[in-house]
Amino acid sequence: MSSMEPGPSTGDHPLPVVAQAPFYAVHPRTDCPHVESNVAPLPEAGLDASAPCSTCQDPTENWVCLKCFRVFCSRYINGDMAQHMGETGHKVALSFADMSVWCDGCDSYISHEVVRPAKRAAYRSKFGEDFPENSEDAENSAAR
Ligand SMILES: [Zn+2]
Ligand SMILES: [Zn+2]
Ligand SMILES: [Zn+2]
Repeated sequence: MSSMEPGPSTGDHPLPVVAQAPFYAVHPRTDCPHVESNVAPLPEAGLDASAPCSTCQDPTENWVCLKCFRVFCSRYINGDMAQHMGETGHKVALSFADMSVWCDGCDSYISHEVVRPAKRAAYRSKFGEDFPENSEDAENSAAR
């Protein structure tokens, strides 16, 4: 008599959690032509990954514009980053949620050497340790 014991997890792929955690499996573009003109040098103070949205003060899911370093909320909150991009023409933003970088001009996630310092600064601010240096792939597990 064999009961259907659940047993220990054997590392089967769990079903993806719906929404919320953006553990997307997309491949970021690496040839974004906007990044050079839409990413400014990092402020000396670095980045504050816990900064609230400049417009609505929502603290939960924000992006920082890599052109002007203002912080706005995602489209899942009030869409203030999308509005900021529309108003200013700034195109590249970094997510404090998962350290991904979005280019509005490409309408895609991007990966580029120019955004790495910002990514590192945000990661350090959020987790208190350095961004894993070995690979860009690590960004998908940045939120553990
Ligand atoms: Zn907002
Ligand atoms: Zn901006
Ligand atoms: Zn682009």
